[in-house]
Amino acid sequence: MPELPEVETIAADLRQRIIGEKIQEVVVHDARLIRDFPRSVFADCPAPGFIRAVKNREIQKIERQGKALIFYLSGGKYILAHLGMTGQWVLADSAPRAKVSITLSSGQRLHYNDQRIFGGMTVVADLAKVPYLRGLGPEPLSPGFLRVFQAIAMTGIKAPVKSFLLDQHKIAGIGNIYASEILFRAGIDPRCPVNQITEPQLRILGKQIVAVLKEAVCQRGTSKRDYLDASGRQGSFQNYLRVYGRAGKPCSVCGKPIQRVVQAGRSTFFCSICQK
Ligand SMILES: [Zn+2]
Repeated sequence: MPELPEVETIAADLRQRIIGEKIQEVVVHDARLIRDFPRSVFADCPAPGFIRAVKNREIQKIERQGKALIFYLSGGKYILAHLGMTGQWVLADSAPRAKVSITLSSGQRLHYNDQRIFGGMTVVADLAKVPYLRGLGPEPLSPGFLRVFQAIAMTGIKAPVKSFLLDQHKIAGIGNIYASEILFRAGIDPRCPVNQITEPQLRILGKQIVAVLKEAVCQRGTSKRDYLDASGRQGSFQNYLRVYGRAGKPCSVCGKPIQRVVQAGRSTFFCSICQK
């Protein structure tokens, strides 16, 4: 699933290539993709309404918030997009499996692909009213994050630290892959309740959140399965994963096999020697 580094990479690519372009034509090949996210159907604005609302507007700015991509359009409208599990935004002449295709004024074509259709997009007039955005915790790459993180982590949270890292209301942008990597680097057992982690360990955890995500942005994300950047290329952070997807393989630090457990229905990878 695309997480902060992948969405950030796509946002940066699109920023370079489509800012200032006008949306000339929109073809919705699969109307299920025009909806609010994460999973609920966007009842107020089915495909024809979406097309009408965005057509002939200029793309003025592209931002990422959490795992969402936001296209700022002229006239005070915003396309809010979420990649779900398998979403891809790719600039290409043609994309046979595209669910939505947007033709821009320069002739470039922007396609949204999504094999498992957990993602989608919608158009809104007021970002401040979007529940997903309002509910997001602090951005790990924003100034002052470490201080805010420490304060949140010290509020007596009983949940396992892995679940805490995945909770978008607590911290924005982290998903399953980076949560495992961050906890390995911080030397913390993913099953440990947050309120049992010492203050110095929490400080290390905060720093590793920032370090791992920054490194992953530099490597243009992790392509484990479907993720591609806006030019259709893979990221390279999968070459630097120390625990994720490595069950049974030797730990890069102590040599003992990496363990896999299931937490809240999702795989967690860790080293039982290096992480306490
Ligand atoms: Zn180890």
